[in-house]
Amino acid sequence: MEFKIIESDAKNILNASKVYKYTINPYTGCTHGCHYCYARFIKRFLNINNDWGIFVRVKVNAPILLAQEIRRKKRGEVWISGVCDPYQPIEEKYELTKKCLEILIDNGWPVYIQTKSPLILRDLKLLKSSPYVDVYLTITTGDDKIRRLFEPDAPPIEDRINTLRLLHKENIRTHIMIAPLLIGAETLVEKTKDFIHSVLIDRMNYHYADWVYRKHKIEWANEESFFRHKGNEIKRLLDDKGIPCELLF
Ligand code: SF4
Repeated sequence: MEFKIIESDAKNILNASKVYKYTINPYTGCTHGCHYCYARFIKRFLNINNDWGIFVRVKVNAPILLAQEIRRKKRGEVWISGVCDPYQPIEEKYELTKKCLEILIDNGWPVYIQTKSPLILRDLKLLKSSPYVDVYLTITTGDDKIRRLFEPDAPPIEDRINTLRLLHKENIRTHIMIAPLLIGAETLVEKTKDFIHSVLIDRMNYHYADWVYRKHKIEWANEESFFRHKGNEIKRLLDDKGIPCELLF
């Protein structure tokens, strides 16, 4: 697939967030291109006509900006990232996430990384060097056939589980974000119980992927009753194993 890569300078990088104190998005756009992704709203602000998943704006000055902003802003928790996957494939070339993490970790700032990608393992040594790093792997189902319906261009489920295992082995705090909650997510408990610290679960909150449910005749899995039942089932399974779990809906 031909991607549109736009290199440009950002005006700021350490932005206020409702989830943590700050968020950093080294990229705008995400070539994982998940069908349900809410971040596609960002196209409106950038005047970009390409489909979601086809373009990435690379904020090439992100590390320079961060080094400046960190000096004048109050220390706080940083979420990497809110509207892109910071370890999407293009990170391999630009290393903006890595460079931003180096600055945050050097300054002792706490970071919460959220990704679907095993590319995070490239930065294992760096992540291990700080006591203030938490990694969330977003895993929406334990069934790779379901994953392919909703996230065809994101890494396979087994690769994400293996990433959790390897991070945990290196004493990094690992968590799962099951969001949006898809069919087959309950099998994640058995597959990951030995190497996760906590789980967050959220329902499908947007309508972008309604067509996927319709196309595959699984609309029942996009209803309140499914999310309630499945969310509670997973929470019970995790409670039994003493793993903290929060339902966000
Ligand atoms: S990985 Fe995250 S940011 Fe990227 S397309 Fe999927 S949901 Fe959106």
